[in-house]
Amino acid sequence: MQPHSSVVRPQAVATAGGRGFPSTSPLPSSVPVQSRRRASQRRQTRGPARIPADYVSLGLCDRVCRHCKALFWLEERLRHGTIQFPEYHKCCMGGKVVLRPQLEYPAYMRQLFTNRHFMENIRAYNSMFAMTSIGAQVDDSINRGHGPYVFRISGPIYHRIGSLCPAENDDPRFLQLYIFDMENEVRNRLSHFDSGGRVLRPEIVQGLIHILDEHNELVRIFRTARDMLQAGNIPEFKIRLFSVAGARQYELPAGDSIGAIVYEGGPDTGTEYDIIIHRHAGDPERVSKLHLSYMALQFPLLFIFGEDGFHIGLRLWNAATRSLDEDKKLSMKMYYAYQLRDRFQEYSLLTRGGRLF
Ligand SMILES: [Zn+2]
Repeated sequence: MQPHSSVVRPQAVATAGGRGFPSTSPLPSSVPVQSRRRASQRRQTRGPARIPADYVSLGLCDRVCRHCKALFWLEERLRHGTIQFPEYHKCCMGGKVVLRPQLEYPAYMRQLFTNRHFMENIRAYNSMFAMTSIGAQVDDSINRGHGPYVFRISGPIYHRIGSLCPAENDDPRFLQLYIFDMENEVRNRLSHFDSGGRVLRPEIVQGLIHILDEHNELVRIFRTARDMLQAGNIPEFKIRLFSVAGARQYELPAGDSIGAIVYEGGPDTGTEYDIIIHRHAGDPERVSKLHLSYMALQFPLLFIFGEDGFHIGLRLWNAATRSLDEDKKLSMKMYYAYQLRDRFQEYSLLTRGGRLF
């Protein structure tokens, strides 16, 4: 995820110090870029036999985009930028992409992301809490000989979401695990992953349940549905997850704007992209990749607040009018180019997801 040092110039070794942020100068010595610094030092201090001849150190990744605080190497600057005032556009297109700053994560999550066992099994832990399943057309036609099994899919990969309640005699899965048999939630979640030699830890599962219950707006909606089902005597209802974010380009989703519990016979004013979760349903429904909760439903351990992902309501920033430009849409490519950057004094799980990413 980090910028690669593929541009090589032998003399390009930056020095720390100088002006502080906001600036495109080297960072002050107090800047927390130690991990990159250590990596850089490792590269420089390895024995000569282990460094390929065409590898050259670019020094510290300590330059900051003056618009969005993304970190860069000096050598990544645009051609028209100077060493004193370098310019970078791969992050925010020179200030046109403006999104909500990353929130402070709970200390527990930051600690987990440094835990070796957790990071080696992060995909299993995420699958345990994912609210949607991944679907694809599996092509077995290649597996006709005696060779090893080949997993091949044709067509796109998509995400699906099921009903609130499992079918009779079925075990709860995916979002149903947030709603059913709460007394045994840790055991139920682990039960899907006790094979294949993996040993996942109940205390981590319990910790993640607590974190998501407390911080994730999507989980809160499902827990509310759980309480209603347990209360009994509640009219038939469904959950609607809204697809239109409105002016939510800079804010976290609040419960009543991300989704709602809708009673049968109530107003029906959603859009075609809304996700409707029924109490009982047949086959799982496909979730549009343009839905703003698409990523948060599938990757709750990267989007622990239930944050919005890309959606079609995002717009570019107009520096002249100091407002969003209604006529200029922010594309998916621009969105992810912005998100997948390490930033000055900002900590993001997205760039630390390791095997989950
Ligand atoms: Zn930028």
